[in-house]
Amino acid sequence: MSSVVRIERVFKEYLLGEQTVQALNDITLAIEPGVFLAISGPSGSGKTTLLNLIGCIDRPSSGDIYINEQNVSQKSANELADLRARSIGFIFQTFNLLPVLSAAENVEYPLLRRKDLSTTDRKRRVNYFLDIVGLGKYADNRPNQLSGGQRQRVAIARALAVKPAIVLADEPTANLDKATGIEILGLMKKINEHLGTTFIFSTHDQKVIDHANRLVKIEDGGIKAFGIRNQKSNWHIARAAPHAVSATEQNSQ
Ligand code: ADP
Ligand code: MG
Repeated sequence: MSSVVRIERVFKEYLLGEQTVQALNDITLAIEPGVFLAISGPSGSGKTTLLNLIGCIDRPSSGDIYINEQNVSQKSANELADLRARSIGFIFQTFNLLPVLSAAENVEYPLLRRKDLSTTDRKRRVNYFLDIVGLGKYADNRPNQLSGGQRQRVAIARALAVKPAIVLADEPTANLDKATGIEILGLMKKINEHLGTTFIFSTHDQKVIDHANRLVKIEDGGIKAFGIRNQKSNWHIARAAPHAVSATEQNSQ
């Protein structure tokens, strides 16, 4: 099966004054379409950096990233913006909604880039995805008229509205109380199962990890372990071989 995301020997360094911070250190990983993948690791381990690279928000210092088997390293900034607008949805820890826009307008926002969609198509999509996240009645509310959980639902609808192949969520439950966090995870899982959208999310919360069916544990910028499980079974955890971590069959035994 081809991968929706393939990462080949990726390194990422940041320059911090005189110092070089090695944020990612030789990451190789293949992600199958349709998985509900948790990237777990302590604060500072490289989760956000990895998601930003997968989301083409940032580029690796070296190594290659393939989205739907297209090497994104060779694409121009404009081509990447286009790829993001069509293939990738983002969900953030702090929701990142535009405060002056209503829920519906926030969901519509990433679609404005899509010149191939008519106004009617856009409005229809907005209503459809607001309904999916259970916020049909709140379309006209601004973010400050919504609870944290409702705001994250708007963000989920916004991510889904582009009908992305992949949704990336950086600690999506970290700013929510426990019960709301679990509810949001449940909603993401339901969408994953019903629409087949691949979800890749970071977390350091075990409760959140428990909802995943794939797990990548990172520490100090490297993959420390890889986990896979089917429906009801327990995790099968494989220690990462230095250059050969795959989210596919070879680790499932
Ligand atoms: P996590 O999301 O797991 O907390 P990050 O990916 O944010 O980890 O950070 C990984 C490492 O890279 C940390 O040491 C962090 O301080 C560093 N880092 C992240 N972003 C930058 C940046 N823009 N400039 C310099 N260092 C950074
Ligand atoms: Mg982070």
